[in-house]
Amino acid sequence: MARLLLLGGTREALELARALAAKADLQTITSLAGRTRTPAETPGEVRVGGFGGAEGLARFLEAEAVDLVIDATHPFAEIMARNAAAACRETGVPRLKLLRPAWKRESGDRWIEVESTEQAAETLPSLAKRVFLTIGHQDLRAFARHSKIWFLVRLIDPPEGPLPLAAHEIVLGRGPFAEADEIALRREYGIEALVAKNSGGELTYAKIAAARRLGLSVIMLHRPDPPPGKSVETVDQALAWIAAHTAERP
Ligand code: NAP
Repeated sequence: MARLLLLGGTREALELARALAAKADLQTITSLAGRTRTPAETPGEVRVGGFGGAEGLARFLEAEAVDLVIDATHPFAEIMARNAAAACRETGVPRLKLLRPAWKRESGDRWIEVESTEQAAETLPSLAKRVFLTIGHQDLRAFARHSKIWFLVRLIDPPEGPLPLAAHEIVLGRGPFAEADEIALRREYGIEALVAKNSGGELTYAKIAAARRLGLSVIMLHRPDPPPGKSVETVDQALAWIAAHTAERP
C-alpha cells in the first residue's frame, strides 16, 4: 500500500482527503499546522504541528515511509511550500503542489496590487480611514503604525492576545461568505477599503465581488511564487497525478 503525505490547511486539501479516503491501495496522512482551533473534520490519519523545518520533514518522510507528497497548503504558506520542496528533493519522494488559481482583476475592480503587507500599509493613508483587513492574524504588525485608521479585522478564531493595532474591532467568521452579507458588513461599518491576499478560490471571493459592487478599493497582496516543480490547479488533477504514481509502483 502506498503512503501519501497531504500537507493541508485548505479546502482543496480537505476535498482531496475525502476523495482519497475511499482508495484501498493508498494510506493518507493529512498534516495540519494547528493554526485553527476547530479544523474541519478530515477523514483518514491526521497529524498536527510543524515538522521542524525541511530537515525535520525529510526525517518524517523517511520514518513514515512516505511514497508521495501533495503540498496542498495555502498559496501564502510560503515557508511550508519551500520546506516540502527541499525535503522531497533530499529524500527523492515525488511531490506535487496543488495550487488554486489566483483571482484575476475584472472590469469594475479597483485593485491596488502590492507585494507585501508593508507596501499595503504604506498605501493606506491616502486611500481610506476605515479599512477591512482580511489577511489573518499573523501579518497585522505592518498596520500597527496607523493610529488614525480604524480597522475591521476578520479572523477565524478569537486571538489569544491583543492585536498589534490601534483602533480596531474583530469580527469572527470562516468562509464561505455570501456577497450580500459582505456588502451588508461593509455598509454597517462604513468600510472604505479592503486589504486582501490573492488567495484565489470561491470560498472567500464574495469579499472581492462585494468591493467591486460598492466601488471600493482593494489592496491586493500578490501571492509568493511557488517553489519550482510540478504544480496543478484542481483536486481532480491531483487525483490523476496520484493515480499515475501509484500505478507505477512495483
Ligand atoms: P508557513 O508560514 O508557510 O509555515 C510556517 C511553519 O508552520 C512551517 O515551517 C511549518 O513548521 C508549519 N506548517 C505550515 N503548514 C503546515 C502543515 N500543513 N503541516 C504541518 N506544519 C505546517 O505557513 P502559514 O502561512 O503559517 O500557514 C499555516 C497553515 O495554515 C498551512 O497549513 C496553510 O495551508 C494554512 N493557511 C494559511 C493561510 C495563509 O494566509 N498563510 C490561509 C489559510 C490557511 P515546521 O517548519 O516546524 O515544519
